[in-house]
This record gives sequence, C-alpha cells and structure tokens, in this order.
Amino acid sequence: MTTERADGGALVAAVEEYATEVLLPGALEADRTEVPRRHLEWLAERGLLSWGATAEDPRVSVTLDDQRRVSELIAGACPNTWLVWTQHSAVVPSLLALLSDDPPAPLRDVLRPGALLGVAMSDLRGYPRRNLRARPRADGGWLVDGSVSWFTGHGLCTHVLLGAVSEEGEEPQVVVALVPLDERIGASPLPLVALTGSRTVSLTLDGVEIRPEEVLVTQTYASWSERDLRTADGPQPHVFGLAERIVDELRSTGSAEAVEAADAWGEAIGRLRARSYAEADRGGEGDVSLALKVGAHEALGVLSDALVSARGGRGLLETERAQLYARAALFFRVQGQSARVRRAQLTAAAQAAQTARD
Ligand SMILES: Cc1cc2nc3c(=O)[nH]c(=O)nc-3n(C[C@H](O)[C@H](O)[C@H](O)COP(=O)(O)OP(=O)(O)OC[C@H]3O[C@@H](n4cnc5c(N)ncnc54)[C@H](O)[C@@H]3O)c2cc1C
Repeated sequence: MTTERADGGALVAAVEEYATEVLLPGALEADRTEVPRRHLEWLAERGLLSWGATAEDPRVSVTLDDQRRVSELIAGACPNTWLVWTQHSAVVPSLLALLSDDPPAPLRDVLRPGALLGVAMSDLRGYPRRNLRARPRADGGWLVDGSVSWFTGHGLCTHVLLGAVSEEGEEPQVVVALVPLDERIGASPLPLVALTGSRTVSLTLDGVEIRPEEVLVTQTYASWSERDLRTADGPQPHVFGLAERIVDELRSTGSAEAVEAADAWGEAIGRLRARSYAEADRGGEGDVSLALKVGAHEALGVLSDALVSARGGRGLLETERAQLYARAALFFRVQGQSARVRRAQLTAAAQAAQTARD
C-alpha cells in the first residue's frame, strides 16, 4: 500500500473531530430522513472519497491503517453516511488498481469534484435467479435490461457501477460498466427498516445502451465470482467502528454492570480487530477469515443488544441511538453476504442453540 500522504495522522484527527461533532449528533436525524449532501461534500473536500486519488495522479493514497481508522470512525458515528460514502470510497481505489495504467474516461469522470459513485453489483451473486442482463450491440457496446435490488446513495450519486450478465457466448460473461446515473435508469423507494437514511432504492433498466468506452471489464462469471468471494469474506473496519462506538455508549450509561460489560467487550473487540486485520494483511481468504467475519457480526449483535438492555424501554425510542445501532448491526450482517457467509452464519446459529440447550 502506498503511503504518499504525509499527514495521515492529521487526516484521521480531522475525521475524528467531524465524526464526534457533526456525524454522531446528526446520526438519528440522518437515519430518520436522508444522509445530507454536506456530509459527502466534507469527506470529498478532504480527499476521502477516493483516498486522495485525482485524475492526474490516481495512485496517491493514505496508509491502510489510516483507511481502516477513517472507516471505523465514520461507521461508528453515522452508519447511513458510512454506507453512502463507502460505495464510492471502497470501490474507486480497487478499480484504479485494476485499471491503473491508464484509467478509462468513465473512471476519470468519477474522480472529478462533485462526482459520486454508487454500486449496483450485489445481484450478480444471485445469478441466474436475479441479475441484470446484457445483450451485445454491433458497435461493441451492450444493451442492459432488468432490475437492481439495491442501490445506495440515490439522489447524491452521479454515476452507477453496474454488473450485468451476458449469456451469448460459450460461458456466461460479466460486463462491468460505469455510466452516468440519469433519467434512463428508473428508481423506486424501498420500505427499509435499517439504514433508512441511506437513500437506498431499487433501479430499473429497460434497454439502457452502454457505450463500448463505458465498459470497464468483461470477464467470465466464474472468474468474477471467485474474485468476489475473496473480497466479500472477511471482517471489515466498519463493524469494529460500530462495536467501538457501542462500547463507549455502554460505558457512558454509568451503571456498574454496563461498565463491566463495556470493559470486557472493549478488550474482546480490540483482540478480534487485531486478529482480523492481521489475517487480512496475510491475504484474508479462507476459513479463518470467514470465522472472524461471522464472529465479529455475532459480537456486534451481542453488544447492540447489551446497549438496549442498558437503556431499557427508552432504548427503543426513535430519539435513542441504541435502536439505530441494533438495526445497523442487522444490516452489517447481510451486507455483501455471499452464499458461503450465509452458510457460516446459519451454522453459527445452530451451534448457539447447542450452547443454549446445554
Ligand atoms: C440497506 C441496503 C443497502 C444496500 N446497498 C447496496 C448497494 O448500494 N449496492 C449493492 O450492490 N448492494 C447493496 N445491498 C445489497 C447487500 O450488500 C447484500 O448483498 C444483500 O443484502 C444480500 O441480500 P440479498 O437479499 O440481496 O441476497 P440474496 O438473494 O438473499 O443472496 C445472498 C447470498 O445468498 C445466496 N443465496 C440466496 N438464496 C440462496 C439459496 N436458496 N441457496 C443458496 N444460496 C442462496 C446468494 O447466491 C447470495 O450469494 C444493500 C442491501 C441493503 C439491505
């Protein structure tokens, strides 16, 4: 990971201050209504949308430790803002790494000030039950049809990264394209009960024309899936950020038992986080990584329940953050969920029943 930004510490400190003074106090309002545009503007102004990447020098970056800390801080302070922000900030650098020699025009477009990328990729995991379909055009472009189950950041995003499957060849191909989010793409609201301010909608595409230059990658479905599994399995910083926030709030309730739970969980989360990041640094694939991911989500569930216990019935009022965290923890469980992650989560649930019975 390149470390060309000299002021990583100052950047993290600025994010911590913004998270404490703006994101956290506004988190319930953002959840009840919508993530405000100014949150994304603040992050963009500090180079946090593309980790400092610019069209001129897309390789400028911050350290991986700083990236993780920033993600933890934003997620812990305002899960809705984090979800909108991460669509762009997590995806653009990996696209740049993949296509770094000469970023194609659409990718350079989303590096410009004011641009914000949203992602419509998760339905690819449901192929062939549910996915966008691509048909080739004579000019090398594609026609894309179908619906997208989830798209976060609608109303703020200027571009969409979409994945569609073509069955024209011998084996299915995934077409990944980056297009402006305009009137050709319809949007419908979703009756969500978690991350309700994240501006998440479903999209409809009816013969949307994708120009050849808008296509970033075409690859076999098998190779797309193999790569996706590697990135989808493994605990991510936002889970630890929210866990850390809940530990802090538990501690601040002042009851001796809540403080005891906070102390115990503070240490446990710290160890889980250290092991998870060490595992990710070693490559982060396989059963260890998967077990850490499932364990991190289980821990977050226990912690968010504990905060509700500490707050009592008032924890379920819309003016209380305990209920926001409990619902966000549920979302983090399913975010980027692969078939393998789901199996591991359900196996863990079966094992918990065994423990409960004994
Ligand atoms: C609030 C919110 C915002 C989101 N924002 C985005 C976004 O901006 N962009 C985006 O791309 N996605 C987004 N998602 C999707 C999210 O990241 C997850 O992928 C999604 O929640 C997983 O659930 P699903 O219902 O879509 O998938 P499911 O269809 O339930 O599938 C999940 C996994 O389980 C497997 N599976 C499903 N059924 C079976 C079965 N019967 N047997 C075996 N395996 C099975 C699937 O193959 C897949 O791998 C969002 C989701 C939510 C709730």
